[in-house]
Amino acid sequence: MTTGEALKKTKRQLHDSGFKLTPQREATLLVLLENEKDHLSAEEIFFFVKQKSPEIGLATVYRTLEILSDLKIVDKVSFDDGVSRYDLRKDGAKHFHHHLLCLECGNIEEIDEDLLGNVEEIVEKRFHFAVKDHRLTFHGICQQCQRKHQES
Ligand SMILES: [Zn+2]
Ligand SMILES: [Zn+2]
Repeated sequence: MTTGEALKKTKRQLHDSGFKLTPQREATLLVLLENEKDHLSAEEIFFFVKQKSPEIGLATVYRTLEILSDLKIVDKVSFDDGVSRYDLRKDGAKHFHHHLLCLECGNIEEIDEDLLGNVEEIVEKRFHFAVKDHRLTFHGICQQCQRKHQES
């Protein structure tokens, strides 16, 4: 999906929920789309937004991120540093993707497959808990770091 298509889709999502894609929201969303592979904090998003649209304030970016996460267009996620980061939900994904966090280089890889369908069923049955979503981060050593160990 191109950035233009993604933007159009989000515009529709916002519209269906009674929100407009204001220039401020569009600027925030563009930063998220352009840095899809990164996991940016609100401050980092604000930094990029400001480079293009200096008139937009941090509070507006925060508010936009709240709306986008309420609508499940982005997901809030935090890793070892405890900072809230924002992650675009993959197109059509019912669940948030999983992360592989490398403890050595800090690299974060994403897994799109859900893998947890059965686990959710078990949780629902055993704990009578209506599961809406889940967060899963594997902590370990990435392939590149493993190779480095083998070489040395
Ligand atoms: Zn992610
Ligand atoms: Zn690594």
